[in-house]
Amino acid sequence: MPKLNKTKPANKVKRATAQTAKHKITEEKILQNIREILSYIGDDPAREGLLETPKRIVRSWQKLYGGYKMKPQDVLKTFTEGSCEEMVVLKDIEFYSTCEHHLQPFFGTISIGYLPKGRVLGISKLARLVEVFARRLQIQEKLVAQIADSLMETLKPHGVMVVCKAKHMCISSRGIEKHNAVMVTSAIRGAFKKMEVRSEFLEMIK
Ligand SMILES: [Zn+2]
Repeated sequence: MPKLNKTKPANKVKRATAQTAKHKITEEKILQNIREILSYIGDDPAREGLLETPKRIVRSWQKLYGGYKMKPQDVLKTFTEGSCEEMVVLKDIEFYSTCEHHLQPFFGTISIGYLPKGRVLGISKLARLVEVFARRLQIQEKLVAQIADSLMETLKPHGVMVVCKAKHMCISSRGIEKHNAVMVTSAIRGAFKKMEVRSEFLEMIK
């Protein structure tokens, strides 16, 4: 594999990105770029097994990066009827996301808890909210923060806590080879900063 050139200075990269945005990127251009990547890594994009690969990759992006077309407001319809003051928890929501540093998958589960203040959400909405932010380029720390903040904004509850446990392919598959390392991140807002509230949530998601 050829050596990578030195990284361009940040201002040049910025200009290049802005230029690309001006021209509409056609699918044919993207397919050509992927073929070039396949050559760059040392394979032959013209061989039979790889002929359809660029198209498959582009098609897979509709799902993997579909979150950019979704807004949290569209998903988070709240209602007052049946509202309670007890903690609401949805645990072990499975998710699949892409690490923005290596474009490799990371996946696992997310548990969300909130303390309602007069408004609640349909429980399936929490799972859809996870999709909105997971189906983008992400880092795990930002993923939990974005979920917590959009709930605080829309639902205006006493507090929110989000815990994410994930395996990162960029850790398992490259040099470090810690195959079973699980990364845990959390975002804590409002009442969940109190020890007793946090403990109740952690007990529920055990
Ligand atoms: Zn990574």
